[in-house]
Amino acid sequence: MASTDLRKALSDNQSALESQANAVRQLKSSAAAKSEIDAAVEALNALKLEKSTIEREIHALINGDGNGEGSVNKEAFRQAVVNTLERRLFYIPSFKIYRGVAGLYDYGPPGCSVKSNVLAFWRQHFVLEENMLEVDCPCVTPEVVLKASGHVDKFTDLMVKDDKTGTCYRADHLLKDFCNEKLQKDLTISSDKAAELKHLLATLDDLSAEELGAKIKEFGIVAPDTKNPLSDPYPFNLMFQTSIGPSGSSTGYMRPETAQGIFVNFRDLYYYNGSKLPFAAAQIGQAFRNEISPRQGLLRVREFTLAEIEHFVDPEDKSHPKYSEVANLEFFMFPRQEQVSGQSAKIIRLGEAVSKGIVNNETLGYFIGRVYLFLTHLGIDKGRLRFRQHLANEMAHYAADCWDAEIESSYGWIECVGIADRSAYDLRAHSEKSGVQLVAQEKFSEPKEVEKLVIASVKKVLGQAFKGSQKNVVEALEAMKEKEALDMKATLESKGEVEFEVCTLGKTVTITKNMVNIQKEKKKEHQRVFTPSVIEPSFGIGRIIYCLFEHSFYTRPSKAGDEQLNVFRFPPLVAPIKCTVFPLVQNQKFEEVAKLISKSLTAAGISHRIDITGTSIGKRYARTDELGVPFAITVDSTTSVTLRERDSKDQVRVDVENAASVVREITEGHTTWAQVWSTFPHQSSTATDE
Ligand code: AMP
Repeated sequence: MASTDLRKALSDNQSALESQANAVRQLKSSAAAKSEIDAAVEALNALKLEKSTIEREIHALINGDGNGEGSVNKEAFRQAVVNTLERRLFYIPSFKIYRGVAGLYDYGPPGCSVKSNVLAFWRQHFVLEENMLEVDCPCVTPEVVLKASGHVDKFTDLMVKDDKTGTCYRADHLLKDFCNEKLQKDLTISSDKAAELKHLLATLDDLSAEELGAKIKEFGIVAPDTKNPLSDPYPFNLMFQTSIGPSGSSTGYMRPETAQGIFVNFRDLYYYNGSKLPFAAAQIGQAFRNEISPRQGLLRVREFTLAEIEHFVDPEDKSHPKYSEVANLEFFMFPRQEQVSGQSAKIIRLGEAVSKGIVNNETLGYFIGRVYLFLTHLGIDKGRLRFRQHLANEMAHYAADCWDAEIESSYGWIECVGIADRSAYDLRAHSEKSGVQLVAQEKFSEPKEVEKLVIASVKKVLGQAFKGSQKNVVEALEAMKEKEALDMKATLESKGEVEFEVCTLGKTVTITKNMVNIQKEKKKEHQRVFTPSVIEPSFGIGRIIYCLFEHSFYTRPSKAGDEQLNVFRFPPLVAPIKCTVFPLVQNQKFEEVAKLISKSLTAAGISHRIDITGTSIGKRYARTDELGVPFAITVDSTTSVTLRERDSKDQVRVDVENAASVVREITEGHTTWAQVWSTFPHQSSTATDE
C-alpha cells in the first residue's frame, strides 16, 4: 500500500476504534448480556490488532529503502542518504578543513542546482501566479526594527545548562528525547504512563518555562553527555548581535527572518500596488538563528534560506478570489482538537475545513492549498506530508490561526513551512515605533454615516486636579477602548466618579463627572482607514530540500546483484542535471554525435553532462542515477541514439536530430515519459547493458 493509503487506513481505524470503545463502554454500563459484551470486546481487539499492523507497515515503509521494501532502520537509512549527499557534494559541512562549525553547511554543485530549481519553481508557483511584489532587503538589521517586532525581547528558546560543565541544551528537546526513549524502550511502563507521555509529546510546544522545568525535575532528566544535574530552563535569545559602523554605538542583528524587511516597506509597496488590497510581497534571503544545540543535520542550522510571503488583506474580508481552485483538494490535516485528544492526522477536504471554521479563513485556506501543491509537485510524498494546526499556547497571542506544513523524515515530523494569520500585529507595531502610519484606505463610493465614540477631556478641570500629571491623565483617557470608555460613562452617570488606572503614572486616580465627556456622535465619512491583516507563508528552503532528498532516495541491486546502487528519483523539475550524454564506446564518430547533441541541449537550455570516459556504460548510468539525473542519451550509432529513463531503466530509440527536443519536451513538462514510451520504438537494454 502507498503511504497515503496507509495513513488513511490508520485514521479510519482510529475512528472505528473510538466508536467501538464507546460501544463496549455503553454495553458494560447498561449491564448488557455477557455474550454481547464479549463480542464487542473481540471486535475492539481485532481493531487494535489491525492498528498495530498498519503502524508496523508505515514504520517499514518509512524506515525501509523508500520503496517500502527492506527493513533498514531509520538511522541506517539516514546514513545512506547523508553519505551519498556528502560524497556527491550535494552539501558539505562548512569550513570542513578546520573541523567545521555545528549548524553551518555549504551547498556543493548538485545541491546548488537543486536549490536554484526549487527557488525558481517557488517564484513561478507563488510570485508569478499571484503577481507578488518581490523585494530584497539587507540581512543586517538595526535594533529598532527588531525591538518593534518583538524579536529583541521575545525571540528566545528555553535553555538548560549542565550545572558543572556549562554545556547548553534546548530544554524541550531533552524532554522530547526522554519521552520518546521511554515509550520506545521501556516495556514496563503502564498504559496510563504511556498515555501521559504521548500527551506530553503532543502538547510540548504548549509548555511554559516553569512547566518544562517541573517536568525535567519530575522525570529526573540529567545532562545527556555527563549525567550531571541541569539548571532551570531560562530564555536564550537566538539572534546574532553585531554593531553597525565602526563606533560600536549602533546595535544591529543578523535578521532572524526576512518578513520585517517587507513590513517596514509596506507604505511604499501599497502605493506601488495602486493603493489596492489585497496584495502580497515576497522575499527570498538568508536568515540567521543562533540555535542552542543544532543536531539534525540540514534541518536545524544557524544560517538558512527563507522564502517568505506577506499577503496583506482587509481584516473584514479575508476571502480569496482563487480559493475555489484549491477548495476541493484533500490531504492530511491535523487540527488542534485531534492533537489534544491523542488522535492522528486525517484526510480532510480543504473546503470542508474552511467552511467548518477549522481553518480560520479563505485566504489562509488558499495558501495551505497552494503550499500542498508546491510541495507535492516538487516530489514530497503525499503520505508523509500533513498540515498541523498550532496549539493555543504555541501560537503568538495576536495570531488568528497558524498551520505548519510538516514533512516526515527519518528525524520524525519536521516543520518545513509555517502558514500564519498574524492579524495586524506587525504593521501596528512598526506604526507605533516609527510614527509612520502603515495603514490602508477604503474609499466609499458614497459618504457613510457612522457612529463614533468621542472622548473629550475637560483640560481646565483636569489641570486643577492633577497639575503636572494632567498630560498623562488626558492621554490615558483618550486612549481608552470603546468598551472601557462606555463603562466609565455609565459609572460616572450612576456614581459621579470612578477610579481610573494611569499606567504611565503607575497609580490609580479619581475621575469625576466634570472632567470628561464621553459621547457617541454621528459623522459622515468618505473613507475607512485600517491596518491590514497579514497572512504569512514562510518556507524553510533547506528543510524542504533535505526532506526531498530523503523522499527521493532509494537503492536497487546492481545487475550482477553484488551491490546496492543509490538512486534519487527527483522529478525533472528538481533534478540538478536533466540529462547525460554518453558515447557507448570510445570512438571518434560517436563522440562527435555526442558533442552535437550536447550543443543542441545547451541551445535548448537543458542542463546536462557529457561523459566520454571509457568507463562501462553500467557504471556511468549508476553514477548519474546517484545524482538523480532523470534521462541519459547513449550514442551507439551516428543516426539514432537511445534515451533511457532513470527509474524504469526503459529505453527508446530516437533520431539524433530529435534527441534534444524530446528531452526538452519532457523536462519542461510538455509531455511525459509514458507518452514518449508509447511514441518511439523500444530499445532492449542488451546493446547498452547495465
Ligand atoms: P519560523 O519563523 O520559526 O516559523 O520559521 C520559518 C521556517 O523556517 C520554518 O518553517 C522552518 O522551515 C525554517 N526554519 C526555522 N528554523 C530553522 C533552522 N534552525 N534551520 C533551518 N530551517 C529553519
